[in-house]
Amino acid sequence: MQVIATIDAFRQARAAFGPLGFVPTMGYLHAGHLSLVERARQAHGATAVSIFVNPTQFGPHEDFARYPRDMERDLRLLEGAGVDLVFAPAVGELYPEGFGTYILIPSADQVLEGAARPDHFSGVATVVCKLLNIVQPTRAYFGQKDAQQTVVVRQMVRDLNLPTTIVVAPTVREADGLAMSSRNTYLTPAQRTAAPVLYRGLLAAQARYAAGERDGEALRQTIREVLAREPLVRPEYVSVADPLTLRELVDLDHGALLSLAVRLGTVRLIDNLVLGPVDPKGSGNF
Ligand code: AMP
Repeated sequence: MQVIATIDAFRQARAAFGPLGFVPTMGYLHAGHLSLVERARQAHGATAVSIFVNPTQFGPHEDFARYPRDMERDLRLLEGAGVDLVFAPAVGELYPEGFGTYILIPSADQVLEGAARPDHFSGVATVVCKLLNIVQPTRAYFGQKDAQQTVVVRQMVRDLNLPTTIVVAPTVREADGLAMSSRNTYLTPAQRTAAPVLYRGLLAAQARYAAGERDGEALRQTIREVLAREPLVRPEYVSVADPLTLRELVDLDHGALLSLAVRLGTVRLIDNLVLGPVDPKGSGNF
């Protein structure tokens, strides 16, 4: 496994490989990341992973400085997973003096994570575009955990005619249902005990959908009621939206993306579940 910090050296090393699978990450790896690596490896053999905590996708009051980092452990895990190339640049390598080009996706900034986190998806799209240009992968793998991110990345790849296929893989969860996330390490023991309520809320709405409920607001209300049982959890939004446009739904005739964001103390967690048929061109191909 080669670990490379500069763009020039990465391009040189990449040239020795043909088709390549790529998993972009911010490090502090867990089984969710490794499931993406495993899919990439099975599809291609040759696999690249990036580790880069991208400052442009964090707001001024967000957790960029304290985001958990453990490069040594990450590299051990990636070596064990059979990864060929790791791209781990410093911030100045991707954003040198004078950097000034950003991708804007205005539709993403109106809803869900985009509405809650101004500039977040501009930062995500910009760094993913740069990474795809540097890594030149055949396929790039993203987690359903960050549902709106998958929509944004697909839109960017389509709009800018990037020659990479985007693959979305299911959310990997802890045994109690909590979606794995590097940010889970911020949780106190009491918050960690409360956190599985996010998934319980989504499952409750899924059960009502399975029983025939097709009213969007009724499903939102079901999720809110479950969340309200955990006093430590403060909901930020609860959404039942079209999986492709992310517009809130009144009636569910073609399935839906259930998603939510909450705060537990200062920690912000998100989760989601897809209901109904998944459009083959759409939000999931898992
Ligand atoms: P991050 O390091 O948080 O930027 O995540 C890197 C990639 O891993 C993104 O595509 C995430 O959606 C994905 N990912 C994060 N957590 C999970 C999870 N629990 N299950 C599946 N994929 C995940």
